[in-house]
Amino acid sequence: MDIAGLYELQKIDLNMDKARRRVAQIRRKLEEPEELKQVRNTVATLRSELERLHARQLDAELNSRQLAERIQESERRLMSGEVRNARELEALQSSIESMKRQRAQVEEVAIESMQQREAHQRQLADQQAVLARLENTWLTQKAALEEEETKYRRFYAQLKQQRQRLSERLSADALSLYAQLVERKAGIAVAAVQNGACSACNMALPTGVVSHARTAAGAPVFCPSCGRILFAA
Ligand SMILES: [Zn+2]
Repeated sequence: MDIAGLYELQKIDLNMDKARRRVAQIRRKLEEPEELKQVRNTVATLRSELERLHARQLDAELNSRQLAERIQESERRLMSGEVRNARELEALQSSIESMKRQRAQVEEVAIESMQQREAHQRQLADQQAVLARLENTWLTQKAALEEEETKYRRFYAQLKQQRQRLSERLSADALSLYAQLVERKAGIAVAAVQNGACSACNMALPTGVVSHARTAAGAPVFCPSCGRILFAA
């Protein structure tokens, strides 16, 4: 059994796991930041509020002009001598006064709307500047993340090819033992011997086991503690 080959396979699989995890992590980071979404919402809200205020102002201005015309017409009639009846004159007079009060109110609404629009416009300009800055930062980050993702995807594809070539070289027995151990031992089937200990479970290995792992050509030697295949370089 090609133990060095299985150890190589193990390294490839761990790197493939790492690449997969990193890509998943990058995909999560590629979600637009909450702060950016919020500022974009604020800008949209301010825009529609501005439209509403503008419509309110135009309405009030139109109303005021119409009232002005009606007041003018009534005043003309009052002064023209067309109306002679005292009660009618009084009614006309009081209608003019009422329209003037109404017009004053409408004018106030127009001015108030205009002032609110100015305040909103300043806020909108501020928020648009914040949005532009956040968008710029985000686009730079996003481009870097996408570049990193491409790099990891390419790396993953290379590993996959390496794995394919290596698998073709390994025996069916070796591959099946490896697959069983990967399944049972949390993804790690082969452990290197490092300073006389198993690199997976860190248990010190009896010297007999270490030398056996070094010399046993072909037969797998297992860690007595965790049961993984030992690889001694
Ligand atoms: Zn072990």
